[in-house]
Amino acid sequence: MEKKGANRKVVLPLLEEHGGVRPGVARRVAAETGVPEADVYGVASFYTLLSGPGHEVRVCQGLSCVLAGAEAKIAALKAAGTPVRAVSCLGQCDRAPAAIDPERELLPGAPSGARTPSSDDLAIDLEGEDDPSYAAFDTARDAGPDWVIEQLKLAGLQGRGGAGFPAHLKWDAVRGQAELERYVVVNADEGEPGTFKDREIMIHRPHLVIEGSAIAAWVAGASTAYIYVRGEFRDCIRALEAAIADGGHRFDWLDFEVVEGHGAYICGEETALLEAIEGRRGMPRLKPPYPTQKGLWGKPTLMNNVETLACVPAIIRRGGEWFRALGRTEPGTKLYCVSGHVQRPGIYELPLGVSLDELVAAAGGYVGTLRAFSPGGASSGFLPASMRDQPLDFGGLAKRGSMLGSAGVVVLNDTVDMAEAARWQQIFFEDESCGQCAPCRIGCRVQRQAIDRFFEQGRDRSALANVEAVAWEMDAGSICGLGMVASAPLTSALAYFQEDFGD
Ligand code: SF4
Repeated sequence: MEKKGANRKVVLPLLEEHGGVRPGVARRVAAETGVPEADVYGVASFYTLLSGPGHEVRVCQGLSCVLAGAEAKIAALKAAGTPVRAVSCLGQCDRAPAAIDPERELLPGAPSGARTPSSDDLAIDLEGEDDPSYAAFDTARDAGPDWVIEQLKLAGLQGRGGAGFPAHLKWDAVRGQAELERYVVVNADEGEPGTFKDREIMIHRPHLVIEGSAIAAWVAGASTAYIYVRGEFRDCIRALEAAIADGGHRFDWLDFEVVEGHGAYICGEETALLEAIEGRRGMPRLKPPYPTQKGLWGKPTLMNNVETLACVPAIIRRGGEWFRALGRTEPGTKLYCVSGHVQRPGIYELPLGVSLDELVAAAGGYVGTLRAFSPGGASSGFLPASMRDQPLDFGGLAKRGSMLGSAGVVVLNDTVDMAEAARWQQIFFEDESCGQCAPCRIGCRVQRQAIDRFFEQGRDRSALANVEAVAWEMDAGSICGLGMVASAPLTSALAYFQEDFGD
């Protein structure tokens, strides 16, 4: 029961302003907001950017950064007397090994990732001119909401955040709600290790995000669009705010609210993100009801990923069938992130359904000999080189027991110990489980302990005897997708790379 007059929405910004989890801060924020002190402390301790000391350089320990020498970077910084904290993925895999300063800005000298050269045959076209004329919005408004939804259906646009759910069904579902107070939420909390495409869209094409959000809000009948941006992406927040200042006035019926995340991978899950906007711990809600029915503040909410919304203006301008025809095995182009052992890590906009070899050819080729790859970040587990011809799409990878997810492709060559790679990913999931449900909270720890014991006991395969059973429990009993897939790195490595486990 929320205390009368309490405004939870201000809890997170106030905590940040007052210095995170420090003696007296929770009490002070409680007094200022009316939210019970225990709740304030609970929120503060949930988010890494609030709970961690603010004077350290944060060095990424995502798999791509580990491959690129994150541990050596940490050692060098420590040797130079710099306070350092190793953290989960920073979303900078194309700039590995990545590190950010206490102000959350990239350390100088980071390499810049590659992007596809501009072309008229791309839906997003990262290198294209970012146009604030918003002509697609005018077209959508003149043609009507039903026409817009029909174009999305013709386009076959699938959500680019990971699930691949048909976008037009979500848009239609919100429109069909009896409740007329509705919201649009843009999920810009990009956190899957290996993924950094939304970051580049926000930096290079912020007007596409604004225009796509405005079209969504107009179709949904919403008057506020929240854009929840990962807290480590300071340059994205600046770019979005500049774009809103530049062109947001065109939509005088719509308020844009850019909300800064505070460091929690789980907030990429849609209901956890809603909890975070409302000022609570980012713990996923049980579904149903779905956000389209009861989302932000309990109202119908249309939530889409940045890339999904950035596709919408091109679909409106050029038609759904044009977009559909861009794809190979599934509709449209897709922003593929590629990092690890490739010549030019970066983002490549390619027909949905290209193979790994085609993607890596765009990225300048492999470094060394391909051994394994993750097609969709840590959650997708590992696939062997023998699957290099598998189309990188939603449906085909799901049939292989993997997933495209947000298309964060990580490439591993034959120098990589796959047991070690699995261990890094299990550390990530243990760090990022929100802890709400026992199968995930305990299971993530048990899996990480198992792989640790495997190494401590001299690569003793018996240490991994229960991995499959624990994975089953986690899949069957977890509330959200994190717990369901958190064992994938270990189980897939065991399945495809038995020789690294002594079998
Ligand atoms: Fe939290 Fe894991 Fe449960 Fe998801 S599955 S709600 S991350 S504990």
